[in-house]
Amino acid sequence: MNDSQNDESLVSEDGGIGASRRPTIGFIGLGNMGIGMTRNLQRAGFDLVVNDVRRETAAELVAAGARWASSPAEVAASATIVITMLPTPRIVRDVVFGADGILEGIPDGGTWIDMSTSVPEVAEEVRSRFPERNLNIVDAPVSGMSVGAANGTLQIFVGATTGQYQNILPVLSAMGDPERILHVGAAGAGYAVKLMINQLWFSHVIATAEVLAIGTAAGVNLDVLRRSLIASPANSNFLEHDVLSILNDGDYDEGFAIKLACKDLGLSIDLARSVGMPSELSALVEQIFVRAKRGYGDLAGEMTPFKLYEDLLGTELRLTSETLSGVAR
Ligand code: NAD
Repeated sequence: MNDSQNDESLVSEDGGIGASRRPTIGFIGLGNMGIGMTRNLQRAGFDLVVNDVRRETAAELVAAGARWASSPAEVAASATIVITMLPTPRIVRDVVFGADGILEGIPDGGTWIDMSTSVPEVAEEVRSRFPERNLNIVDAPVSGMSVGAANGTLQIFVGATTGQYQNILPVLSAMGDPERILHVGAAGAGYAVKLMINQLWFSHVIATAEVLAIGTAAGVNLDVLRRSLIASPANSNFLEHDVLSILNDGDYDEGFAIKLACKDLGLSIDLARSVGMPSELSALVEQIFVRAKRGYGDLAGEMTPFKLYEDLLGTELRLTSETLSGVAR
């Protein structure tokens, strides 16, 4: 982290971002995640100025009092803090450096928080090319799916100086669970933590699908198999909780497109390469995800690789009354 970065307080004299002095929040990227996050900022009383390449995404926010801006530059010029929630590092770069980008509007000493799952290169380029602008650039990617964004219960991983973290905490608290907003290190650490979380979670998706498919093919009742695994040292949060959306409802989470999951897995492998660490398992998991994306389409849900194993089995893995009936409880 560049220590010369400006930690100037955004916090009002009464110790918090008081209702009378709430900063205006600029928000760019109103997709599956951004729409829930902005609704929660609005509910918490922040004035909003918003932008997306798809103007229709802002209709409801504007009806509730948000201001539409026609470019990222206009967002950055009108807001105390500008937040990006965008699909890929390339798009983040376009929105920052492009014509009418954030850099054209943000005042010197201004604050930009990137909440996208991304990498530090864009922020590093801004700092190294424009050190005199003294911008506060923070990475604060999130976990918790679109449902967490909608409910304001996101987990947020913040890479920032302590001063920057303290200053933006009231804003992040409007979008995330205050208990799970973590200051994980200096700039860039938030991106790294988020990529490692996704890498591990996607690995659980594949490992769980494989084990449940093999076990049921061997004739074990699906519910018995899952309960046995949960009771064993091999238990995981995915097996105990997250997989139930598939097993109970056939829901592969279309709130997170598999093309973005593949993006995250690619970034995770890039990170491993950049620090000189092997990533054999990550590479294999990424390839299985790419196979599923190719087969089921870019917009299929992030857990669709599970389906690859169901297809091989010739049946869906579901906890129906039939699979539950064979269980000794
Ligand atoms: P999304 O594709 O649903 O939304 C992205 C939004 O950005 C879209 O509305 C799109 O129109 C807009 N956009 C694209 N290019 C733009 C540009 N040049 N200028 C302005 N707007 C632009 O994606 P999402 O699911 O909301 O994910 C956003 C980020 O959050 C990604 O980095 C993703 O990896 C991460 N993430 C997603 C989830 C999830 O469950 N969906 C969970 C955690 C993190």
